[in-house]
Amino acid sequence: MIAILLNDNSFEQDIRELLMAYYPGEGFSHSEEDSSQAFLVVRGERSENPGTENETGTERPTENLFRITLMPGGAGDAREEELSDAVSADFSCRTEAKNAVKRMLYGLLRRRTGRELPWGTLTGIRPTKIAMTKFSEGWNEEQIRRYMKETYYTSDGKIELSLDVAGRERSLLSTIDYQNGYSLYVGIPFCPTTCLYCSFTSFPIGKWEGRTGLYLEALFREMEYTANRMKGRQLSTVYFGGGTPTSLSPSDLDLLLCRLENLFPLNHTREITVEAGRPDSITKEKLAVLRRHGITRISINPQTMKQETLDLIGRRHTVEQVRETYRMAREMGFDNINMDLIVGLPEETIDDVRCTMEAVRELMPDSLTVHSLAIKRAARLNTQKELYGGLHIVNTQDMIDLTARFAREMGLSPYYLYRQKNMAGNFENVGYAAPGKECLYNILIMEEQQTIVGCGAGTTTKVLFPEQNRIERAENVKEVEQYISRTDEMIGRKERLLSALCGE
Ligand code: SF4
Repeated sequence: MIAILLNDNSFEQDIRELLMAYYPGEGFSHSEEDSSQAFLVVRGERSENPGTENETGTERPTENLFRITLMPGGAGDAREEELSDAVSADFSCRTEAKNAVKRMLYGLLRRRTGRELPWGTLTGIRPTKIAMTKFSEGWNEEQIRRYMKETYYTSDGKIELSLDVAGRERSLLSTIDYQNGYSLYVGIPFCPTTCLYCSFTSFPIGKWEGRTGLYLEALFREMEYTANRMKGRQLSTVYFGGGTPTSLSPSDLDLLLCRLENLFPLNHTREITVEAGRPDSITKEKLAVLRRHGITRISINPQTMKQETLDLIGRRHTVEQVRETYRMAREMGFDNINMDLIVGLPEETIDDVRCTMEAVRELMPDSLTVHSLAIKRAARLNTQKELYGGLHIVNTQDMIDLTARFAREMGLSPYYLYRQKNMAGNFENVGYAAPGKECLYNILIMEEQQTIVGCGAGTTTKVLFPEQNRIERAENVKEVEQYISRTDEMIGRKERLLSALCGE
């Protein structure tokens, strides 16, 4: 545990996030008493230096000083050196002061651990937004490089990745009228079983056997409301996620896609993705339903091609099933198939990652999304520490570089990226795609460039008000029973935002 003791909480969140990046999975406390159980105590004190008068009689204004001290707590190694530094900043500009405080803390953590972080002080989940924003302000690549290096201490490799991705995103977004349209996300919160690292809204489909109709009924009401409310606006992209939508039966899937077609005009829709995610949810019959309804992109996600890991993480499918379902989808005519992989899975080494990449290369998917394992609070990997706490979890830059090299060899280029909190190794998730096979929805959601209406349990609606450069969110409840009984309330939450968007 880390104790954070501050006399001013203005930067509490930023300090915690940077500590989290250095010590993923660690708990935090804010009380003096708990410091005896902490291995590290972070003390932050803000003070004011009164202004002074120099020889010419002009007064130097009052300065704010922020001092941070790192010291071992009761559970730490008492012989460890205490480290301290202070920064003086103009606290009337929050962003600058925040960056200065983070740089100072980063310096201390670097001294304490001997480690640099690939993204430097950047802890946000959308690092490409910086390059995107600066590009739109007319900056050139060299200026952005210098800015990211000096302001955030970002490594050269990550700066180049940001520039590469931002450049590709800009050119892809220029092909659609994204600001006047919207996208639709439909959540199907069921999966065959729950993966060890899962923190999504997902419940084993077995428990809903014979009752999925209740969920669909509620979902259809929300979809109908959305279609009416957004009438006249172009629907740019549709994404069925969750969960694993193909956990539904072929007839439920058919019903769902028929309802989409009946409710929404799809003539301007550039892509419809269905996460077929888990190979143990895919059958020929279900793929046939997706084909019949013109689904343009599907995901078949191995995560790893090592059977022992699949067994360990609770994915009840085999490596062979990944190959079989992938080939079946190809034979049935799917020409845009994505595969998700995770680097840093328990007990995996770089050789395992290499074997996975070799197996994936044989299949040649159209796109590949490489995630770094994130140990989220709600995941069994975190909640059942007594069972899984001893697992060896390693993620290194070499592993990430290896996946990037394979992707390049497969003719896939990075086109979107995002980060998560509590990622092993504090790296990033990168989507690679062959030219023309990129998923626009992924860019739109990551760069927050368009209103996305979420329907279904656990989904979020994000409304973009471009004039004010403002985003507002409405969340749906996660529990399926709650969602079914409170659908009107979910619609009400959306209506509050969407009516404002539509100018009513
Ligand atoms: S397939 Fe995805 S949503 Fe389903 S349990 Fe696994 S991680 Fe969660």
